[in-house]
Amino acid sequence: MFTINENYLRLPGSYLFSDIAKRVNKYTQENPDKSIIRLGIGDVTLPLTKSVITALHEATDEMGKAETFRGYGPEHGYDFLRQAIIENDYIPRGIKLDIDEIFISDGAKSDCGNIGDILGLDNKVAVCDPVYPVYVDTNAMAGRAGFYGKDGKWDNLIYMPCTEENGFIPSLPTEIPDVIYLCFPNNPTGTHATKDQLQMWVDYALNNKSLILYDAAYEAYITEDLPHSIYEIDGAKQCAIEFRSFSKNAGFTGTRCAFTIVPKELKCGNVSLNSLWSRRVSTKFNGVPYIVQKAAEAVYTPQGKAEIKQSVGYYMNNAKVIREGLKAAGFKVWGGVNAPYIWMKTPDNLTSWEFFDQLLNKAQVVGTPGSGFGPSGEGYFRLTAFGSAENTVKAIDRIKNAF
Ligand code: PLP
Repeated sequence: MFTINENYLRLPGSYLFSDIAKRVNKYTQENPDKSIIRLGIGDVTLPLTKSVITALHEATDEMGKAETFRGYGPEHGYDFLRQAIIENDYIPRGIKLDIDEIFISDGAKSDCGNIGDILGLDNKVAVCDPVYPVYVDTNAMAGRAGFYGKDGKWDNLIYMPCTEENGFIPSLPTEIPDVIYLCFPNNPTGTHATKDQLQMWVDYALNNKSLILYDAAYEAYITEDLPHSIYEIDGAKQCAIEFRSFSKNAGFTGTRCAFTIVPKELKCGNVSLNSLWSRRVSTKFNGVPYIVQKAAEAVYTPQGKAEIKQSVGYYMNNAKVIREGLKAAGFKVWGGVNAPYIWMKTPDNLTSWEFFDQLLNKAQVVGTPGSGFGPSGEGYFRLTAFGSAENTVKAIDRIKNAF
């Protein structure tokens, strides 16, 4: 008789966004005349840009001709895209990477989860609290998280609270983790770490032989003079893997393209993680479609860069509208300066879900309860800047009037 991976049975029942959808559906059924504004899920709303679409069309035409048709591509990604990444994302920041340190993938989400394939099950994992739930759930699925308790925590994970007191930047944990997930700019709190703060983490990881898994999916939203890559930090190549994505900068959430950097200097004993990841990718993945990689390459053309700057600017203007509007209305808010997320304290000590319901009922605005991202998110709420400019202004006016 076959057996299943019982770790899946330990996962708590429903997923944050399906809970939200259920409440919103119920509300719309009961109030069909009310228009809802969604500032909840972190999906983009602007369409793909002109240069990306042109590249997609051209690559599609190539696929229709015998002379230019391409079948299976290199599992690790085409060199034209890997080279464009090195030249545009890393060399200008003083970071030297070899082409075989870059792995093109179908998403930062997949890679953040899949990276666990090359790590021992006995690793003690540390996550921020609140946190992007993928890091937690994928470790729970692998059996590294232990059991889920009534306190909303897994008993074998190290939680690093991100609170008002520490400015939502985690403090070094008392128990030393083997693997540390860091995400900057942060989802959900919208905060970003300084170079000194990241240096502290890199030094800590090097001293303790820990591995940092650095998720920089929102790197394009940094507006201040802050590190865009963990490799801007001395020593990071010996202790960190970096995840990047075209989802949020170039609107590829439905097109799917991302990349992961595994430096060759990164070793466990004398085993290279780059070799392990390379082996894993070539065995379990057959590469991102050629047409999608050509589309991603177009992001780095002068026109592509200008277009992306405009889209990111559009969302960051929404972020400003949300942040300044909520502040003016007397709410306590964070983020929205180097990230498309605004993290707010719920008024009157409401729980995150109580505020969710009030916001829906009084203002018909949907956001995300902070408690859905971890126990330390209780009493907080996340709004995203990914809506349309018009809806964002409308939502903030409604919130101001309702509270
Ligand atoms: N990492 C973080 C922190 C995210 O918030 C998200 C998506 O919301 C992702 C990764 C997913 O990126 P991708 O679309 O490349 O899978």
